Amino acid sequence: MQRRNTKQRQIVLENMQKRMGHFTADEIYLQIHAKDPHISRGTVYRNLQFLADDQQIRRIKMPNSSDMYERNLEDHDHMICRMCGKILDVGPIHSRVDQKVGKLSGYADIQHTFLFSGICPACQKKLKKQKKQ
Ligand SMILES: [Zn+2]
Ligand SMILES: [Zn+2]
Repeated sequence: MQRRNTKQRQIVLENMQKRMGHFTADEIYLQIHAKDPHISRGTVYRNLQFLADDQQIRRIKMPNSSDMYERNLEDHDHMICRMCGKILDVGPIHSRVDQKVGKLSGYADIQHTFLFSGICPACQKKLKKQKKQ
């Protein structure tokens, strides 16, 4: 059983490492399922949780939708388009902020989640076209 768990975790991790970008657990399940139909949704979800807790992948908390996962562990923040939901990596912008906040508050092991939102260039073009019509 233990062995099987490890193998499935490996499949999930390898799938993440192959792809740049930000995906919901459901999208990742579908990617894996296309190749490996035996793997269940629950298994993929559980392994994503495990890998994120273990900091082998990164989990991004989204305010109004499901959590997303990505393989990029470098310090960076996120910009989301309010029209199409496209997510872009930005930064690192706040790399020193954890230290500062730690000093101010006396807290240790500071983490943060910043999420910027805006209108992406593709959607800006769409909006301009709509205005012209
Ligand atoms: Zn957009
Ligand atoms: Zn990212």
